[in-house]
Order: sequence, then structure tokens, then C-alpha cells
Amino acid sequence: MLLVCSGRCGGRLFRALFAEVDVDSGGGYQDHRIAQPGYICLNCGSPAVDLSEVPAEMDAEAAADEPPAGADILCPVCETLVQVDAGMECPNCGAPLEVA
Ligand SMILES: [Zn+2]
Ligand SMILES: [Zn+2]
Repeated sequence: MLLVCSGRCGGRLFRALFAEVDVDSGGGYQDHRIAQPGYICLNCGSPAVDLSEVPAEMDAEAAADEPPAGADILCPVCETLVQVDAGMECPNCGAPLEVA
């Protein structure tokens, strides 16, 4: 797990939400279980994000967004035919290419 504040405040302490904590008759901590995952930044109160889970989600999004391999598009600036999987900039004029 790698928690970061979604507000990017740099806070390094987080509070687990929805965790059920078991205590003994003296209030001593015994055990806990996560009823539902969720954390907030103790510094600013923003929701925290678990970075260790993000790469998988970003991969899934990238895969969904990716155009078919080898697709060619025309540069809107210089009209060079560019292979999309070669990069997101026109190799001829350096214009950013928008993949529809
Ligand atoms: Zn924060
Ligand atoms: Zn171009």
C-alpha cells in the first residue's frame, strides 16, 4: 500500500475510515478489520489514494484508450502521415497529435 493525499498537500499521516476496531474492556486495541477501504489525509482532510493500486487501473485505461496498433493519422499542421504508435508528436513538425 502506498497512500498519497489526493489534494497533494504532502501530508504523510492518514486515517483509515470504516475500519472496525476491536477493544477489550479497558479500551486496549485487540484487532481490527476493514469493513470498507477508505482513507483520508490527516493534514487537509482530502481523500487519500492508494498508489499501489493505480498502475493496474491506469494500464486498463490506457488499453481502452489506445487506438488500433499501426493506425495512421494525418498531422493537422503539416499533413505528414504519422503512425500513432510511434509517439504522440509529429516527427516532422513536432505538433502534438490528437488521436480521436
Ligand atoms: Zn492532504
Ligand atoms: Zn506535422
